[in-house]
Amino acid sequence: MLCDWDVQTFDYWVDVMDRERQDAKLPKSGLKMYDSLHYWDGPVKEKLWWAPHVKDFRVLSLLQEPLLTISKRIPCHAPEIKEAAACRAMSVNVPQYLLYLQQKARSLGAKVIKAPLPVDAGQENALAEAESQAMVNGRRRPDCFVNATGLGAAKLCGDEAMYPIRGQTVLVKGEADAIRTRIGDGYTAYCIPRPGAGMTILGGTKEIGNWSETVDPETTARILERCAYIVPELLTGEDGGFEVVSAQCGLRPARQGGPRLERESVGGRKVVHAYGHAGAGYQNSVGSARLVVELVGESLVGSSSVISAKL
Ligand SMILES: Cc1cc2nc3c(=O)[nH]c(=O)nc-3n(C[C@H](O)[C@H](O)[C@H](O)COP(=O)(O)OP(=O)(O)OC[C@H]3O[C@@H](n4cnc5c(N)ncnc54)[C@H](O)[C@@H]3O)c2cc1C
Repeated sequence: MLCDWDVQTFDYWVDVMDRERQDAKLPKSGLKMYDSLHYWDGPVKEKLWWAPHVKDFRVLSLLQEPLLTISKRIPCHAPEIKEAAACRAMSVNVPQYLLYLQQKARSLGAKVIKAPLPVDAGQENALAEAESQAMVNGRRRPDCFVNATGLGAAKLCGDEAMYPIRGQTVLVKGEADAIRTRIGDGYTAYCIPRPGAGMTILGGTKEIGNWSETVDPETTARILERCAYIVPELLTGEDGGFEVVSAQCGLRPARQGGPRLERESVGGRKVVHAYGHAGAGYQNSVGSARLVVELVGESLVGSSSVISAKL
């Protein structure tokens, strides 16, 4: 199912980019296609399930560029790259994409209300608060709620299957020419250009169960060192290193057993849960959202409300 959601999202985003290319007046989504280069320190161990679904997948020779130059840059004490592949892949300028989605939702009649929902007195109480917020803000009583609270669902619904996967990243100046991912023994280093922003995200860590949102300077140094070999075009600092804009960390909302997408009736209120997408909430967003629309539609069967959303 998750693979199918990814493919639906990929196809949808290709379509959005095509439409933008044909009509310069359309709002910009912040999506862009790049070459995506994958490097492995040893034999590829994981199944490359995505290879048949992406555009232009190909195995790269270690005896040709860009591998020749990269291999020369890697110091002799560091692991060598043993396998490489490339494809075309998407990068998302997330701040711009979220704004684009919000504007689209507003143009379809959505109202954005920001308010914390209480988590200590049960789901029914949280839903009553959400309902009251909607009505105080001039909307009618909601027919159905979509609970997309990510890690917040751990407390909000008492879902003990939820856990964080901490990720630290570094934002640097300049837009890298390509997406790169290097997979080694116990680490992944990656570079994701942020389209149109003149900046690139370098990563990263995946620390299961770590709730800390404090940046660790040693991790920052390790990310910069590992990425220096694979992203040479951004070593534009006076000291020959990256020009660092910021370092940050976030918590991926993971869930044992995978995302929870299901209907529930809580104290007579209809809810569709949609949380637990871990480190793939963007790449599988469209497929997942289509299922949410379907579940909301099923919830409303027999009521006078209709749902007319189409992604
Ligand atoms: C370092 C890092 C790298 C990542 N890289 C990728 C990537 O390459 N590709 C990809 O697809 N995904 C990636 N992700 C994962 C992606 O960010 C998540 O999957 C996605 O954000 C999940 O979206 P969501 O809306 O379900 O949850 P969230 O984005 O966590 O949003 C949940 C929202 O609910 C709100 N909320 C929670 N509780 C309450 C409450 N009680 N009252 C009111 N509001 C509440 C929160 O404030 C938040 O705004 C990455 C994440 C990290 C941290």
